[in-house]
Amino acid sequence: MLIFRQLFDATSSTYTYLLADPVSREAVLIDPVFEQLRRDTTLLRELGLTLVATLDTHVHADHVTAAWLLRERLGSRIGVAAVAGAAGTDLPLQQGDRVAFGSRWLEVRATPGHTDGCLSYVLDDRSMAFTGDALLIRGCGRTDFQQGSPQRLYRSVHEQLLSLPDDCAIYPGHDYRGLTVSSVAEERRLNPRLGGDASEGDFTGHMLNLALPHPKQMAIAVPANLQCGRPEGERQPPADPDWAPLTWAFGGYWEVQPAVLEDLGTQVQVVDVREAAEYTDTLGRIAGSISLPLGELPARAGELDADRPVVTVCRSGARSAQAAVLLQKAGLKQVANLAGGLLRWRGQGHAVIGSGD
Ligand code: FE
Repeated sequence: MLIFRQLFDATSSTYTYLLADPVSREAVLIDPVFEQLRRDTTLLRELGLTLVATLDTHVHADHVTAAWLLRERLGSRIGVAAVAGAAGTDLPLQQGDRVAFGSRWLEVRATPGHTDGCLSYVLDDRSMAFTGDALLIRGCGRTDFQQGSPQRLYRSVHEQLLSLPDDCAIYPGHDYRGLTVSSVAEERRLNPRLGGDASEGDFTGHMLNLALPHPKQMAIAVPANLQCGRPEGERQPPADPDWAPLTWAFGGYWEVQPAVLEDLGTQVQVVDVREAAEYTDTLGRIAGSISLPLGELPARAGELDADRPVVTVCRSGARSAQAAVLLQKAGLKQVANLAGGLLRWRGQGHAVIGSGD
């Protein structure tokens, strides 16, 4: 058994992988992205997982790793190739090492060629391989900077990856077209650069003639990743809202607990998004709340004071979560959903008016 999630950063087209042991709840993240810290910490919290390590496949040139931030927040250990020479690494990894999470583990394979410190991670039962930029779906990483070498990449891919079982799933570090997974058999047969009958000479000739521009982030990303993504200067993680203690939900909105809303009192605008008939039904309503049914919200969002925080409310917290997302999209900066809705609010003993009790 394995908990597995494939996450995507649209800015850099990077895949981040979450793997966890469902019994011990220990987890690892492969290639976490700096800007996705909130998403990844939220998913770990919501799934009840303990992050034991972050594993970078290499020193990336196109995005900054979240390894350092995750260690600060969650105490995870930072794994990266020993030969990459990144400052602040906890697990300097090399060929044959194992990284355990609960009863499961990943085998480290050195797959240099895109960079000299590229690693691939192979799951204990060889059902999955996380190949970074060494092997992409029908492609591979470039070899024209960061000590890249087409000859080394060809040998790495053939000896360490395409030698895995046919049905071993290939999960790459990136995909620019939205392709998510391939297999060893598929890439061995169909990879246009490295598969079929392509020889080392064919591959080298192809790679030396790519003439790609350098990644836009390269001048920032490489030095930052050599510090395991330690924040510096302007490059800081997004700040949390300061108007109340809120919790980010993986669904893409902030949540506020009933006791916190009670303490906020009239500082916030409480927007009840239930239908008009529900607003006056037996469940009651929060004193001072504004009735603004979900269906009318897009047209009437302008009626709200944009300078004051808004808390959305419904019966169970589901429709109001959608309302919170809508209001964020409408440009409101301070929006949160009342977690659990009126049911939790009442269940925790907070007052309502107009109830049938
Ligand atoms: Fe790369």
